[in-house]
Amino acid sequence: MDPQNQKPLEIHLVTATDSPEFTHLTRSLSQTSLVGLDAEWKPVRTQQKSFPTVSVLQIACQLGDDSVVFLLDLLSIPLSSIWEPLQEMLVSPDILKLGFRFKQDLVYLSSTFCSQGCNPGFDKVEPYLDITSVYNHLQYKKHGRSVSKQNKSLSTICGEMLGISLSKELQCSDWSQRPLTEEQMTYAAMDAHCLLGIFKIFQAKVAEEGELDLKTNKLSISSANLGLKELFKKHDMSDKVLSTQFCEALAIVQATTSSGVVQVPPSAGEVIKKSSCRDTKPMDAFLLKIVKKHGDRILLKESDREPKTSKKKRKKQLPINGISREKHIENFDEWQGTAPWDPLLGGDGCPKFLCDVMVEGLAKHLRCVGIDAAVPNSKKPEPRELITQAQKEKRVLLTRDAKLLRHDYQIYKVKGLLKTEQLLEIIETFQLNISEDQLMSRCTKCNGQFIQKPLSTEEAIEAAKGFQKIPSCLFNKNLEFWQCMDCSQLYWEGTQYHNAVQKFVDICKLSD
Ligand SMILES: [Zn+2]
Repeated sequence: MDPQNQKPLEIHLVTATDSPEFTHLTRSLSQTSLVGLDAEWKPVRTQQKSFPTVSVLQIACQLGDDSVVFLLDLLSIPLSSIWEPLQEMLVSPDILKLGFRFKQDLVYLSSTFCSQGCNPGFDKVEPYLDITSVYNHLQYKKHGRSVSKQNKSLSTICGEMLGISLSKELQCSDWSQRPLTEEQMTYAAMDAHCLLGIFKIFQAKVAEEGELDLKTNKLSISSANLGLKELFKKHDMSDKVLSTQFCEALAIVQATTSSGVVQVPPSAGEVIKKSSCRDTKPMDAFLLKIVKKHGDRILLKESDREPKTSKKKRKKQLPINGISREKHIENFDEWQGTAPWDPLLGGDGCPKFLCDVMVEGLAKHLRCVGIDAAVPNSKKPEPRELITQAQKEKRVLLTRDAKLLRHDYQIYKVKGLLKTEQLLEIIETFQLNISEDQLMSRCTKCNGQFIQKPLSTEEAIEAAKGFQKIPSCLFNKNLEFWQCMDCSQLYWEGTQYHNAVQKFVDICKLSD
């Protein structure tokens, strides 16, 4: 396909309600059935008393075969004037909202609006579909149940599904600075826009499989990329890619944003009035079926709206008289900070731990349920080394050594004595999601991940030469072997494997 025929991404920066861009936005919201949402805020240091202020809200609207991205500059628009249209969009049954772990964005967005007197902010998004579920669903369809559910980053998912790389370089840039740079605008727009692209592929797959009855559907995979792929054609999947292709893309985008593509409808006032008694377009039958089958929602609880205070601050607030500090440390749910793997802190959202020698057994158990659990780099590490490693790799340090808690880093003291107890304690404390297909998805020996494709018996024998003996009784069983990418250890789905899976299904009570 000739890239020149591709329509460039249409981006509109909305800075005021009496602007043509705002009119365009409200009109688009009344016509769309599908939006991709994302928000940007100025990164704050961990463990602050309040939530960060959202400074840009991105809304990518699908309009027929076209799409358009609106960047709402929440630092210039009076929030009270856009609360109502946003609220309507978030709960409109006529609009499916796509997001990538949007709950956190919603918490911050809500708090931002509340702080400007728009109580009660926002507490619901429905119907909603998270791109992680879309991705996991497609993976499940593709590989069956042996592939582990992973919390991949949006950038990884985009790379796999759309063949484009999103740069993460700008994620932590200063979103409160004005004017926003062209790079920031493009980045922000892409993050919302790619959600539409991923959803289109999902939609097309669903249609292809005839999972839902869809005689009327006219989707084509070719429209699934929405021009993104061509925009970043020569990608090589690395995270830095965008910077090279960025210039080309940027040139196209700049041409669009500055050429005034906007058609101005009658008058802004008229449309605002209309937005309060909007007649939105109902979803088509196909989308409605997808929503019925896969649709979800985000509901914020009271507790979600309160920033969690840090361990350090909490300790200071606690009465010291008569109660020893050690006692507080013994509180089961005392771990309260933002986890270092939190995307807010630049992490990838996947829980990661570093287990010191006192909880080595726990490390193995965590790996068995698919959780990334490393051990110290050196044999007898100093506390400082442990902390540096944890920090560097964005891990929470797990230990039974109360002395380590004095150090200013995210350390959790494990209370349980038995490995199984400890495992359940960590799952509960850090609210880890364990699913059955995640069991045995990681090398228990070294914490490495497996090579994606299983090996046949012949390939396994070849791969095991010189360091691991494969019992000959396995030879004629047509088993699949999995090899660790790091230490090359081979695993297979034998009796031991099934026993182990059953054991962790029981421990984690996954069967009910
Ligand atoms: Zn390994």
